[in-house]
Amino acid sequence: MMPYAEVIGDPISQSKSPLIHGFWLEALGISGRYQASHVRPEDLPSFIEGRRSDPAWRGCNVTIPHKQAILPLLDEIDARAKSVGAVNTVWRDPAGIVRGTNTDVDGVAEAIAGADIAGRPVVVIGAGGAARAAFAVLAQSEASEVRVLARTIDKAVQAAGECGLSAKVLPFDGDAQAFDDAALVINATQLGMTGQSPMPSFVLDGLARAARDALVFDMVYAPLETALLATARSGALACSDGLVMLVGQAATAFERFFGAAPPREKDAALRGILLA
Ligand code: NAP
Repeated sequence: MMPYAEVIGDPISQSKSPLIHGFWLEALGISGRYQASHVRPEDLPSFIEGRRSDPAWRGCNVTIPHKQAILPLLDEIDARAKSVGAVNTVWRDPAGIVRGTNTDVDGVAEAIAGADIAGRPVVVIGAGGAARAAFAVLAQSEASEVRVLARTIDKAVQAAGECGLSAKVLPFDGDAQAFDDAALVINATQLGMTGQSPMPSFVLDGLARAARDALVFDMVYAPLETALLATARSGALACSDGLVMLVGQAATAFERFFGAAPPREKDAALRGILLA
């Protein structure tokens, strides 16, 4: 009986998770598989019930639209998933307990590891699900101020509060001063993504007001080189792209599923596969 894990969502064909986990399984010579499973919202409860009784199942990654809906279907949710309000990784522990966590938090932490934010301001654009993972990381940081640029102010105030972050929520209204002296800028919106609206020019212009050693992290990974990152690079700012987060969140999930650390020394080869 070959152990397996999977990613579930609706739609699911776009997911890069099978490529990532499949690469690591092969590199480590683990006899296991990782698949994509299309699960519609109305089928989620029966799907999880069925997986509970499958001894080969190790767990699943969870993507849109199930990240919140799955919470009541699990036995235990850890503190970070509770504060983020979303589960992206489900696994069964040796005692048979089906647990939920949020490894997007690990992905964000990895993507911003190069930023020196202690005692300095940080800017986050957006306040949706992915921004919440950033809020959870920043709530544990020593940043002097976290400025959240949000289209929907109330939602941003609530999201930051639920993630334990004391944030300064600002309207997404074209004021580039929000970027003054920022040591870290995070885009947690779809802006700049293929098929979505472009990143507004006030944000691109605002990067010139950030600190000279600032790190700019764009969660978007299609395209990988967004206008935000291209502008940051042209201003000699450090950059972190969406694949860093994607691979980072997968790494801790992989350990839970297959009990082994992924071969991160092969990240360059993995990125090549993901970009092919
Ligand atoms: P989400 O929950 O829908 O949140 C999107 C956020 O962007 C919301 O705060 C939304 O504002 C804001 N927004 C959208 N369009 C906007 C606009 N035109 N002007 C101003 N704000 C706008 O989506 P999500 O799941 O957080 O995903 C956000 C991005 O992160 C996506 O590009 C996704 O691909 C990426 N992501 C990447 C990774 C990774 O591993 N690299 C992981 C997760 C997500 P409102 O609140 O007003 O709607």
